[in-house]
Amino acid sequence: MEKLIYAFDEGNKTMKDLLGGKGANLSEMKRLGLPVPDGFTITTAACIDYLKQGGQLSDNVTSQLQEHLNTFSNRTGKSFSSQEDLLLVSVRSGAKISMPGMMDTILNLGLNDENVEKLANKTNDARFAYDCYRRLLQMFGDVVYGVPMNRFDTYFDNYKKEHQFESDADITADGLKHICEKYKDIYMEYGSKPFPQDPYKQLKEAIEAVFKSWDNDRARVYRDLNDIPHDIGTAVNIQEMVFGNSGEQSGTGVAFTRNPVTGENKLFGEYLLNAQGEDVVAGIRTPQDINTLKDQMPDVHKNFVEVTKQLETHYKDLQDIEFTIENGQLYLLQTRNGKRTARAAIKVAVDLVNEGLISKEEAVTQVDVKSIETLLHPNFKEESLKQATVISKMGLPASPGAATGQLVFSAEEAKEQAESGNKVILMRPETSPEDIEGMVASEAIVTTHGGMTSHAAVVARGMGKCCVTGCSDVEIDTVNKTVNYPNGDVLREGDIVSVDGSAGDLYLGEIETVSAEHSDEFEQFMQWSEETARLQVRMNAETPQDIKSGYEFNAKGIGLVRTEHMFFGAERLVEMRRFILASNYEERVEALNKIKTYQIEDFESIFKLSDGRPTIVRLLDPPLHEFLPASEEDIQIVAKQLDVSTDYLKRRINDLNEVNPMLGHRGCRLAVTYPELYEMQVEAIMSSVFNLQQQGIESQPEIMIPLVSTVEEFTTLKKQLITTINDLENETNSKVPYLIGTMIETPRACLIAGQLAQHCDFFSFGTNDLTQLTYGFSRDDAGKFINVYTENNILQLDPFQSLDNDGVGQLINLAVTNAKQVNPSIKIGVCGELGGDAKSIHRFNQLSIDYVSCSPFRVPGAILATAQSQAEESER
Ligand code: PEP
Ligand code: MG
Repeated sequence: MEKLIYAFDEGNKTMKDLLGGKGANLSEMKRLGLPVPDGFTITTAACIDYLKQGGQLSDNVTSQLQEHLNTFSNRTGKSFSSQEDLLLVSVRSGAKISMPGMMDTILNLGLNDENVEKLANKTNDARFAYDCYRRLLQMFGDVVYGVPMNRFDTYFDNYKKEHQFESDADITADGLKHICEKYKDIYMEYGSKPFPQDPYKQLKEAIEAVFKSWDNDRARVYRDLNDIPHDIGTAVNIQEMVFGNSGEQSGTGVAFTRNPVTGENKLFGEYLLNAQGEDVVAGIRTPQDINTLKDQMPDVHKNFVEVTKQLETHYKDLQDIEFTIENGQLYLLQTRNGKRTARAAIKVAVDLVNEGLISKEEAVTQVDVKSIETLLHPNFKEESLKQATVISKMGLPASPGAATGQLVFSAEEAKEQAESGNKVILMRPETSPEDIEGMVASEAIVTTHGGMTSHAAVVARGMGKCCVTGCSDVEIDTVNKTVNYPNGDVLREGDIVSVDGSAGDLYLGEIETVSAEHSDEFEQFMQWSEETARLQVRMNAETPQDIKSGYEFNAKGIGLVRTEHMFFGAERLVEMRRFILASNYEERVEALNKIKTYQIEDFESIFKLSDGRPTIVRLLDPPLHEFLPASEEDIQIVAKQLDVSTDYLKRRINDLNEVNPMLGHRGCRLAVTYPELYEMQVEAIMSSVFNLQQQGIESQPEIMIPLVSTVEEFTTLKKQLITTINDLENETNSKVPYLIGTMIETPRACLIAGQLAQHCDFFSFGTNDLTQLTYGFSRDDAGKFINVYTENNILQLDPFQSLDNDGVGQLINLAVTNAKQVNPSIKIGVCGELGGDAKSIHRFNQLSIDYVSCSPFRVPGAILATAQSQAEESER
């Protein structure tokens, strides 16, 4: 019989696939002899089986469940029906990869009308017993029977108001008893089944609800966002309850072994006295700093500090630890590698290496590629910030960044506004997992309640999104959609606000931003990444500003200069149009000579910035009609500029019209028809290089011919280019080594790569066109249906964003293998969008590609991805 349930003392931290992260770590902590309440884990395999069977717990699970409960009773003497030793449990989900707040938890399970009295007698605290019961009724109703949480909350809040109770703690035992009765009525009013009095039935139904929650919308959205597979299922942990809400010597909290925002090596945490489970993370009450525990319970604090150090050393990473104190006794409920900001991730990784806890290779695997991109985000300009009108300075800096947008007060509105192209700031009293899509759509998230570990803070940090929590000096009215200041001022939906996630401040209006500055740790970390990596990273860029950014990020050269992007300026466009519309060779050459002067200027500035680093200039590759005017008005203007009649211009536009321009007269096909075009371009490239040589500036030009699909296309053009270059060399008496290579963008080019490689100095895979042509999906139109494909699992991922291993990947593999066989020194790169995608980079690393090239702001992420990929390879 397959083992589907493991007691905590049967597992360990390596069993995450089966026990989920939470279960595996609970087992590990038990193994280390730490104070973990007893329990067992139902495996992810049981969840997968449950979902496959259409929502049916197998006999195997139920019989093993019964066995574990029996063993548990024998060991502890506790059971659901015992008079003296009542068993109450928590039921919590726990997938392999943590999904904070995304799935469901039920506490105090086992209570019923009879057991609540037993608990009251045993603890001599009826208030406590009924507080536990009302929480169970609420959580069970919401999670298992789908009774909306706000039905319970509204009743609870009204009851408090009616009886003029300031806080939850003021409600008496009788009051809570009354609330429990009312909650049971709410089950029936909502049309649900009554609350089950049989604890075993509660347990079974709760387990099923957790399994089902794997497939709820918010969990799916979270998995999509974080590239977590949908088919790995969640485990369920059943654990004996310990009560943080059993008086002032009890409490519950969350702590990080280091500061998850800055990375500072100092225990960072929050707790609430006399509170249970979700109270801290839900952000309903504002918790206390962990340091104040030192005064309130010095022994517990000391013990806790020791345990956190032990866990961090054991796991060799920053830990996020959940704990409960029950009558002065510390219990650990969870430990996991803590989510952190990119800045903190880098500082922690560098510090752990310096402390001798991990190696440099391990350090590079600890930082998420996506998160590093957030470090490159701008901050508010100091001077503009000083002049800005403050809305709130009381917030907590939950997740760094600087964002401006229109205020919205609901996740739905955030989504709607973002879909219509507006930038929005989502402001809520607190967020809950239902808000996930609205949070994704927003520029920043602001809450008036909650701390640094609230749902909003944790999720935003995970997304790398700017977030401020606990702005308690303003009040949100979600019904009237206003933010009310204490002095009576009001902000309304649609007002523009700016959020400083690094400081925790909120401002009125838009504020100027500056680009990010990098810490010494960042530089150190990137250096280790480069040392670990095999693949090099270049950039795709043509403007001086982009090139400078790419080199600041340590790109090793330029992998793609798209020369057509250099013709978009008004003056150049006129000359380009003159070339396209020319009716004979002489006219064309005249137009090209004009263009050449612009090109020389541009190339000089590019090679100068490259300063001796390899620079690939891709010869012109646009469909010609893209350069021609479309509207009647534009046609008239252009006709005037070119001094031709509008009729003539219209006729030429008509001649140049193509049914399918992406498969038409573009790339090297243009140069086969008009050889003078590429001749002019190489003359411009080499002239600029020679000019720079005279100024003592070195260049490494690499000339790239696009969209090749036959060997003859390449050899014909290469011959012409070499003749042009030779002539120029003789004319100027100059010489600079150069390479001539091709883009591999058509499936045919992949198939004949062995032949092409005999003539090429380098290849660069243009995965945008290669994906388009392999699938036959238009790269400009596929957006209309690809999301339907991914939603229906027809495609796992959009192949324009992440390499299709089975198709495009196979073509690349074939081409690389054949090319390197005939020409071992050939340099091979990737310059399509996939060159900046971490998953694709991992595959390129396995395929003996030499470098990837991506837009400048993706360079650091790509460097890190190449390092991670190499670190993983070497581990094998
Ligand atoms: C490509 O096709 O992947 C490529 C880089 O070229 P472009 O996007 O300019 O067509
Ligand atoms: Mg292309």
